[in-house]
Amino acid sequence: MEYLVVAIVIVVVALVVLGLLAVGRRGRRVDLPPEPRESSAGPRGGTSGERDEGDKGPVATAERPTGTGPDTGPDTAPVEELEVVEPPAPAIERPEPVQGRLVRLRARLARSQSTLGKGLLGLLSRDRIDEETWEEIEDALLTADVGVGPTEELVERLRTRVRVEGAASQDHAREILRSELLTLVGTDLDRSLHVTRTSTNPAVVLVVGVNGTGKTTTVGKLARVLVAEDKDVILGAADTFRAAAAAQLATWGDRVGVPTIRGPEGGDPASVAFDSVKAGVEQESDVVIVDTAGRLHTKTGLMDELGKVKRVIEKQAPVSEVLLVIDATTGQNGLTQARVFAEVVDVTGIVLTKLDSTAKGGIIIAVQRELGVPVKLVGLGEGADDLAPFEPAAFVDALLGE
Ligand code: GDP
Repeated sequence: MEYLVVAIVIVVVALVVLGLLAVGRRGRRVDLPPEPRESSAGPRGGTSGERDEGDKGPVATAERPTGTGPDTGPDTAPVEELEVVEPPAPAIERPEPVQGRLVRLRARLARSQSTLGKGLLGLLSRDRIDEETWEEIEDALLTADVGVGPTEELVERLRTRVRVEGAASQDHAREILRSELLTLVGTDLDRSLHVTRTSTNPAVVLVVGVNGTGKTTTVGKLARVLVAEDKDVILGAADTFRAAAAAQLATWGDRVGVPTIRGPEGGDPASVAFDSVKAGVEQESDVVIVDTAGRLHTKTGLMDELGKVKRVIEKQAPVSEVLLVIDATTGQNGLTQARVFAEVVDVTGIVLTKLDSTAKGGIIIAVQRELGVPVKLVGLGEGADDLAPFEPAAFVDALLGE
């Protein structure tokens, strides 16, 4: 009897063990190989001027074959929804409106203000203005890069007015200084940008200047100014000489949804300029802005290069604006280099960059006087919207402070 009980217990235990084993086998997981995570769309990027459809549309969802039969292995594993994570599309930025930018950015002129405006005001509102004071006034103007000719002119006019009107009070001194500085900066020059397309052609803006002056940055900022005015813009990266200039420009363009036409590094700048304007004509754009290389090798070399760029552009549309970019921090030296550009191409406007980084705001006066061309835009920082149309009254007011 005892043997019988033991035998039954053994049989029961054996059955339980077998049962557990069977359940375990059925429930065993089949490890799937890792699933491919790639989308069927091609790599993003390429030239911004030639975006393909894969760049615009949603990325296709990858699928695996559908298994219907019993569990026969990894190939027929149950379908899983593949989650394809798309990198966020770069948001198109809305540039700041252009109106009143110089007033908004006037604090950036703080350095120029303390040297030129405040210095002059302090000297001019002294009780007695003797010869020594006039010399100090002259020095302040020269130190601020106003240039010899304009300085002598200004001092002469100030002397006359002080003699006739007297300048005892600070308010009166400010009034005299304000009006004379305004006369010197010039209130009747045409500072508007010629960026209106004709019925058949886009406006073409050629941007020239020595490398490092802020040319490419200015082209990018200018594109934003025009986008803020609801214009259709195309950028031409004809600075094929400086490595990464084209990529730098394309990044500026991408931020505001503006295409950039580029060519191979070291390629022919004229051919990029040609393609850019061609695209502008075909796409009925409002403005094509062409960035150029600023190699100052020889004057003839520069003349050949810029001359060719201009000629090929003009086969399709007239150049409406040639902007010369000058770095305000380079003072008289920058002016000498700029003169070479002005000699090889008809400059219609000056962009004075980095005014935020110099105490020599007077360079505006010297530049215009030297080149006989109005300053149309000023760069007041590295920020995307730190480019302002130049307004003489707002500039002089900023120089003189509140
Ligand atoms: P490019 O060689 O003439 O095309 O010069 P870039 O556009 O590459 O600019 C050269 C440097 O100047 C860059 O670091 C810019 O950020 C800087 N830059 C350009 N404009 C301004 C400006 O108005 N203010 C300041 N502070 N920096 C500027």
